[in-house]
Amino acid sequence: MSLIFDSHAHYYSQVFEEDRDELLVRMHEQDGVKAILCPAENLCSSAACVGLAEKYDFIYAAAGVHPNYADIWTDDTAESLSALLDRERVVAAGEMGLDYYRRDDNRETQKRVFAAQLELAAEKKLPAVIHDREAHGDMYDMLRYYRPEGVMHCFSGSVELAREALNLGLYIGLGGSVTALNAVKPVEVAKYVPLDRLVLETDAPYLIPRPYRTAPEKYKRSESWMIRYVAEFIAELRNTDPELLLDTAARNAARLYRVEL
Ligand SMILES: [Zn+2]
Repeated sequence: MSLIFDSHAHYYSQVFEEDRDELLVRMHEQDGVKAILCPAENLCSSAACVGLAEKYDFIYAAAGVHPNYADIWTDDTAESLSALLDRERVVAAGEMGLDYYRRDDNRETQKRVFAAQLELAAEKKLPAVIHDREAHGDMYDMLRYYRPEGVMHCFSGSVELAREALNLGLYIGLGGSVTALNAVKPVEVAKYVPLDRLVLETDAPYLIPRPYRTAPEKYKRSESWMIRYVAEFIAELRNTDPELLLDTAARNAARLYRVEL
């Protein structure tokens, strides 16, 4: 059985409250989930990610402020985040970025908070976990300026934007949204991304891959083992072996986050 590296999953989420430990241990011991990167949304979840990573040796943490929380940013936030990024189990900064879908009225704040975190990531020599939703113009201006290393998580742009991200040296993260019935651009991107720059993710608990959304087995949250289906789906699009895709994506994620697999 090939190995799964879930490059983006929020296991501190409330929806895992009842069975988090049981689920994580089972996926690791029985379902081939070799490693998980847990990215944060704010200072509180950053600390929670570090806690999970300190508890489980197969979980790694990222610390950061998601654009949905950009308004909470102060000088104190920057200082606390800087300290969290120095923690041993923290292998990336994020998630961070721009989200003009959720909010369009605080663009300047979002850009300022993203810029501050890109600078922190560079200072700490950590890869950035980047969220870009309906903000491509400003996003790529900033990426061209700051030149971070990292990953465009849950990539939602066109093939042209994927080419630009790849030219900037970034990895492309794909997950459940590729399998949606109305997915067009993600499918084109999934066919296009060079195999050595693709990482797989659930964005758990969100973005449940298609077959698990519907009866008879209905899931209300995505879980890392579901990446096996995403790999099969993408492998079929690319006419390649799903096991090879899974293995390569896991090795890519280990290289991206600089962890041993
Ligand atoms: Zn996320």
